[in-house]
Amino acid sequence: MSLLYITMAAQKTEAIVIRTLPLQEFHKIITFYTPDFGKVKAVAYGIKSPKSRLGGSLELLNYGTLIFQHRENRELQNLTDFNLLNGFDAIRSDFTRITYGCYFAELVDSSASEGVANPEIFDLLRTTYQFLVHADDIPLLARGFEIKFLDCTGYGPELARCVHCGSAVKGISVHGKSHATTQFGIAFSIRYGGVLCDGCENRDGAAFTITPGSLELLKMLRKSEWERFNRIRASTQNHQELKRVLSRFIEYHTERTLKSLKFIESVL
Ligand SMILES: [Zn+2]
Repeated sequence: MSLLYITMAAQKTEAIVIRTLPLQEFHKIITFYTPDFGKVKAVAYGIKSPKSRLGGSLELLNYGTLIFQHRENRELQNLTDFNLLNGFDAIRSDFTRITYGCYFAELVDSSASEGVANPEIFDLLRTTYQFLVHADDIPLLARGFEIKFLDCTGYGPELARCVHCGSAVKGISVHGKSHATTQFGIAFSIRYGGVLCDGCENRDGAAFTITPGSLELLKMLRKSEWERFNRIRASTQNHQELKRVLSRFIEYHTERTLKSLKFIESVL
């Protein structure tokens, strides 16, 4: 790449491949997620030809440096080059990890618009893939990704105060590593976007009930760095409750059912 070429409006940015779509016999439409331009779609011409310079570097989940000619208000950008920085091979070689990795990519693809920058989402996706390589509890990592992703998009649920009247909703204090479950529950309203207090829980007849332990766990997932996740323990009930609530919450906001999540439910 000559300096002259770069000065001719080429853009260079970090990028992660979040979707690939075949186009005719030898081409593919690649969707990247970038910190500076949000979602970028480009045609990789001849990528499936054995002679292609970029062959293999534009697989789903690959992280690298993207160079493209930016054209305003165009759906498809001109792909110039992609230099692979990390192919996350340890994710790719493990069925559970790659399945979840594809789910995270689909979630970002489904809710992001082309050309709208959100560097927080990019950082979240990149660090999630880095941690997915050695995560112990992958479904727990997925719940962490979901709540952090919702926060990045501005749809994060209210977990501390009643979303209707604003009074404090108390969970239980969590001191140990396990999140004990109890008999009573807290109402979580998808429609209102968070927890409801005892006095307001009847406002949403479709509200889910989650245990105080699961609520505290969700708060912990929201604020914890990935390095802490392998020390967090969750019961089967915690897993079931958070999965149900977060997947419905995401479905409500993205207005679609994610194929990869259905796949996870049917296979894993
Ligand atoms: Zn209330």
